[in-house]
Amino acid sequence: MIYKHNFSPHNIPIWNCRYILHNRKSLFLQNWLDKDIWSVMHLIDRTGNILKFEDFYSKFNINDKKQYKKVVNAIPQAIITIASNLDTNIADLKLPSLLIDNKNLLDSKINNITIRLIFNEKLHPLSFCRNSILNSFSKENAAQLRGNFYKFPIPPKVKEIHFKIVNGIYPSADFLFKRFGFESTNCSFCKEHIETTNHIFYECIYTCAFWEDLHHWLSKHMQIPDLRIENIIFGFIIDNSVNNLTINSIVILGKFFVHKNRFLKTKPNFVAFHKELCLFFSSLKHMKKKNAVKLLTLVKELNIMELS
Ligand SMILES: [Zn+2]
Repeated sequence: MIYKHNFSPHNIPIWNCRYILHNRKSLFLQNWLDKDIWSVMHLIDRTGNILKFEDFYSKFNINDKKQYKKVVNAIPQAIITIASNLDTNIADLKLPSLLIDNKNLLDSKINNITIRLIFNEKLHPLSFCRNSILNSFSKENAAQLRGNFYKFPIPPKVKEIHFKIVNGIYPSADFLFKRFGFESTNCSFCKEHIETTNHIFYECIYTCAFWEDLHHWLSKHMQIPDLRIENIIFGFIIDNSVNNLTINSIVILGKFFVHKNRFLKTKPNFVAFHKELCLFFSSLKHMKKKNAVKLLTLVKELNIMELS
């Protein structure tokens, strides 16, 4: 990237140049740089040809033919042609500042934060969607949604997937394409739509059917709000703390189930999820944490383990 920002045919640098390679590695010779040799132009004679070693030696007083051959052989013919056609006086050559985004990278005023911002903007032009939660929730509720799930009695892997979804860094095909240039693929379930995080976890016809089944089942046991996209992606704010814990835990586990199916290349099926959920609920009795006891008590009270 630095190269892209600093390349100019008038000062084709020899050192650390992506096109001047020896054994696929760029070159750098301090003893040459000490003698102010850094441009291909320094190796071109008045007729536009590469200097003979003898001329190079008499001009710069560096007596290492092997080293000279290594450098000269590394310069591609195309670059020699460009350099030999330039009507530039060697005395006018000036090593350019190391610019990135018109800022001198070596300027002491440019701190690490600025450099990181420039690199992030250039390499990852699509900014994080970390704060998209604020489009649907107040700051206070967003903070609650971001922090509460850490205390839920659910496995760390499940929390990790939920964290990635909430913060807009879930590695959907669309995310990998936009951020890292991976080949874009369609939705793993329907194969028809672009696989965005919102699509896999909510909009896809198969995921939608899964959530509908889940809602149908859970609403028979307890009062449950509609499953809107913002609730599936970020979570629910429910005044009753036990209901809040239960509904959020089940939906987060549901998202992990959808994520797992994506990797298994199978479609999310509610009956299979319910079996997993029952196993999870029965494992809660081995946990002593307050939230685990709370959740298990409610699950037993409401007979949530029943399918119908
Ligand atoms: Zn789909």
